[in-house]
Amino acid sequence: MTIELLKGDITTIPVDVIVNAANSSLLGGGGVDGAIHRKGGKAILEECIQIRNRQGGCATGEAVYTTAGNLPARYVIHTVGPVWNGGSNNESLLLESCYLNSLRIANELTLKSIAFPNISTGIYHYPKQQAAEIAIHAVQTFGEEESSLEQVFFVCFDDENYQIYQKILSK
Ligand code: ADP
Repeated sequence: MTIELLKGDITTIPVDVIVNAANSSLLGGGGVDGAIHRKGGKAILEECIQIRNRQGGCATGEAVYTTAGNLPARYVIHTVGPVWNGGSNNESLLLESCYLNSLRIANELTLKSIAFPNISTGIYHYPKQQAAEIAIHAVQTFGEEESSLEQVFFVCFDDENYQIYQKILSK
């Protein structure tokens, strides 16, 4: 399994699955969530509503998947990152769970490629350096086990995240 770093808009990446930094309502929001629903079209929201009706949304750290609608990806995994609240409210374990649960779903779907945004580092204000260390560590740990995944992309939208990831991954 290889880990690759990209800069740009995750909605344009032709991978098997892109990950959405959703909120627990699954009804869409701002940031990357807004971009995914806007460009993917209403099929994504319709499946999110079905999941919501079935299980009442998605808890922090958990993940669910839907179609990717009009996006170049095949699926969207919606995971709910923790809101940063000082760091002593289980934020790091919850953020790690977002990455691990997303990777597990991709493996269950026997997918080969997945792209992650920098979960929780926007509206949820998780410190970017710490979030990047958790994200990379989770993916590397998962990569030590056998899975269907061959390529994992980190897609950084902002320069600061891109530089942080570049620095950690070049070590
Ligand atoms: P959260 O609520 O989890 O913080 P946000 O969407 O506000 O979610 O931010 C998460 C990350 O997604 C931020 O680093 C932000 O820069 C990034 N982001 C925003 N739009 C896009 C996009 N179109 N593609 C990839 N990343 C994006």
